[in-house]
Amino acid sequence: MRPSILNPLFAPINTLNGVGSRFEALLKNLCGSKIADLLWHLPSGIIDRRCNIPLRAAQNGQLWTGKVRVVEHITPHTRKQPYRVVVEDNSEQLILIFFKTFGDNLSKQLPIGSEKIISGKIEIFNRSLQMAHPDYIVDSAFPERMPLIETVYPLTAGITNKMLNKQISQALQNLPDFPEWLDERLIKQEKFSSFKQSLWQAHHPQKFDDLSPDTPSRCRLAYDELLANQLSLAIVRQRLKKQKGRSLSAAGNLKQKLLQNLPFDLTSAQKRAIAEIENDMQSDYRMLRLLQGDVGSGKTIVALITMLNAVECGCQAAIMAPTEILAQQHYESISVLCEKIGVKTALLTGSIKGKSRKQLLENLADGNIRILIGTHALFTEDVTFKDLAYIIVDEQHRFGVKQRLSLSQKGNLCDVLVMTATPIPRTLVLTQYGDMEYSKIDELPAGRKPVTTTVMPLTKIHDMIAALERRLKDGTQAYWVCPLVEESEKTDLSAATERFESLQKMLTSSVGLIHGKMKESDKNAVMEEFKNGKIRLLVSTTVIEVGVNVPAATIMIVEHAERFGLTQLHQLRGRIKRGNQASSCILMYGYPLSEIARQRLNTMKQTEDGFVIAEEDLKLRGGGEILGTRQSGFNNFRLADLSIHANLLQIAYKDAAMTINNDPELQSERGQNLRTLLYLFEQDEAIRTYKAG
Ligand code: ADP
Ligand code: MG
Repeated sequence: MRPSILNPLFAPINTLNGVGSRFEALLKNLCGSKIADLLWHLPSGIIDRRCNIPLRAAQNGQLWTGKVRVVEHITPHTRKQPYRVVVEDNSEQLILIFFKTFGDNLSKQLPIGSEKIISGKIEIFNRSLQMAHPDYIVDSAFPERMPLIETVYPLTAGITNKMLNKQISQALQNLPDFPEWLDERLIKQEKFSSFKQSLWQAHHPQKFDDLSPDTPSRCRLAYDELLANQLSLAIVRQRLKKQKGRSLSAAGNLKQKLLQNLPFDLTSAQKRAIAEIENDMQSDYRMLRLLQGDVGSGKTIVALITMLNAVECGCQAAIMAPTEILAQQHYESISVLCEKIGVKTALLTGSIKGKSRKQLLENLADGNIRILIGTHALFTEDVTFKDLAYIIVDEQHRFGVKQRLSLSQKGNLCDVLVMTATPIPRTLVLTQYGDMEYSKIDELPAGRKPVTTTVMPLTKIHDMIAALERRLKDGTQAYWVCPLVEESEKTDLSAATERFESLQKMLTSSVGLIHGKMKESDKNAVMEEFKNGKIRLLVSTTVIEVGVNVPAATIMIVEHAERFGLTQLHQLRGRIKRGNQASSCILMYGYPLSEIARQRLNTMKQTEDGFVIAEEDLKLRGGGEILGTRQSGFNNFRLADLSIHANLLQIAYKDAAMTINNDPELQSERGQNLRTLLYLFEQDEAIRTYKAG
């Protein structure tokens, strides 16, 4: 159970005074629905009203604050004219301008002869100083009524900075004193203050530099978040590691047979990965290994060969993909090869139902089926294996810690291999997988033709479509990826639908449409038609991003490529990098084109190396975005930014490892406090593994 000390942070936002349902909905979109989310919403700027110059020295556009006397009120003659109030300091006069304001209020607020402190933006107009609608007018007897420094937050339409400031300070006031979960020495070394203090400081910048992510207070917050992440991974890993596994070591007959049936030789990177995996399988500890390989590097065959090791030992193996399309694809390539060597395989997805499902489950339970391929449907309750010894999870980043745990509980001391095609920089591997062992396939099979990448403005779309029409008539197939629209999925969808309809009218070749809102079975049907060539051009949202394999499709057009992240563009381009034919990728951009977007498109033009691209992406945008939920479902840090706090991640990693080593059950006093930290950052799934055992 979550420690009650955290309750004020987990209370819904509408428990704050002054948050009604409309405001609540806006806040929810801006940062989240609980009070902690509001507190994690850190400022992006300050307004500094500390100004100590006479009016005479004020510049056009400057934020000016100072004491003035009210000299005169000038009432407007027509409704269109503003109401004006003349004020002065010892150096100069200033005209305050008010539109649509009644004189009554103003003569009360600014009586002639009174002294006020005002603050607002100076405009110089015909050599006279003006200020339209001052931000503040306070009685000179109460200067404290005007905040000299105002914190500025990232906002959304409908929420003002004042509203947000008010709610955040209310939330800060309700903060409890947290038990200190950090090591004393680290606190000294990094000059950290307490968590509460740091949070308070982060929300009260005194100067521009205080907004920088590398201040001690922001670093402390980032560290706590990273430590929670590393600690939860360390706990899960420790659970798995402690369990003795079984030694799977076959003579390799099936493997030999398979290799004889392959039309190609394995690359040396594939051979190395296979050896590393087999080595783990042979040891009597449980394997938990990550296999990283760029799109097209040939992970499937590595998966299959290592599964044969388990099969030859008399056990079963399973491979889980994040979507039905991908499961289907794995099934197609694996089953063909397995048939040749007499190993029975089967496909299990959510759309396999009734009799055929029942039959399949029987064959699985009695051990007939040796390799099962499927989606997460593999791990529903009624699926029982005779003796599952090896699980491969493809494209893991779509799955969370929770699934990783539930799957390792299914098998009998299973070895687990996680495969990912997203090249992840080393630092990010750490946040996602902890110190999981990993193998890398860093070499593509020989003979692959490079993809020619062209970058062009959307204004040339009609020329491009004309050229595309010619290629489609020649028998080529193509993907057309529609832009990501920020606001909502619904808009993505309508953009894709519109493009589909207009292309259908313009082209004589047949055009298909696929998107994430379609039923799985409809998606499969469209994919099938694309594969067998009935559909020549496939218009889609980013659903084709991961793993889809249609060798004849060698052209990809990405519309508004400037809106995509680098990693995502790389994944998309991977779809056409599948054969020995030359292929081309056309990245179309719209305006305005930001500097970062321009650099991204350039990188795409210059390199196809996924690891180079991933490092570049990290540099350009920071880890939070590479791993943004939108793109991959990775951890999304709220307080840490890996492009800045990577060194803290290293420390957190060591801290977590040492802690779990010394206090595996988190029983010590610090351990107890760290439990609170895990709950604070919602990493408590890891704590539950203590009970699951
Ligand atoms: P990915 O790593 O993207 O999953 P796949 O395993 O789907 O890549 O392999 C992509 C294609 O390359 C497949 O058609 C596969 O048969 C082929 N392939 C795999 N290994 C080799 C190799 N060593 N030489 C030639 N082709 C290979
Ligand atoms: Mg694959």
